[in-house]
Amino acid sequence: MSPDLPTGAGAATAPAPVTVLAGPTAVGKGTVSAAIRARYPQIWLSVSATTRAPRPGEVDGVHYRFVGEEEFSRLIEDGQMLEWAVVHGRNKYGTPRGPVEEKVAEGRPVLLEIDLAGARQVRESLPEARFVFLAPPDWDTLVQRLVGRGTEDEEERERRLATARVELAAEDEFDVTIVNDSVDRAADELARLLGVNDLT
Ligand code: 5GP
Repeated sequence: MSPDLPTGAGAATAPAPVTVLAGPTAVGKGTVSAAIRARYPQIWLSVSATTRAPRPGEVDGVHYRFVGEEEFSRLIEDGQMLEWAVVHGRNKYGTPRGPVEEKVAEGRPVLLEIDLAGARQVRESLPEARFVFLAPPDWDTLVQRLVGRGTEDEEERERRLATARVELAAEDEFDVTIVNDSVDRAADELARLLGVNDLT
């Protein structure tokens, strides 16, 4: 836990209006947020803009807002991005500011699922947000998820593991840690942090 917690951070009874979920690559952030989307419609999950191409089954405006490089740059220039980052050295991802502000004004619990670089920017621009670190149950599980298929060469494997070590060390910057030992359990714990129960 960091010493400069915003008031009420970590307390299920006093949810912060914006919660940021981040964590190391391959920890399962996407799966946990998909469980939140499916089971907790009360929680508004921010729809990121990205320059990457849609994968099969992904719907524009639901999973991401798929934009070209030019539009992404325009959103940044117009000050419409709360944060943005190049993820895995490839594509750009960012959180459009307007919808977040709108949902906060409506009193909806808001969840951003973003990478560590993005979380650090939100810490600067929205310090009252709550920062949740999604952690693997243990190092071996993360290694398994990162390199499990064994399709990478030794150099790529080492590169991923080195990145994972650095990313895990970021846990100290966060207000709360949730262990992703089971997707549904982690989603339930996250929803409770946002002040939402199954029965609400
Ligand atoms: P994917 O391409 O697999 O959907 O996502 C890749 C990574 O991008 C994930 O680690 C996810 O957390 C991150 N990401 C998704 N949306 C955003 C965003 O709006 N901002 C930032 N900084 N990262 C994002």
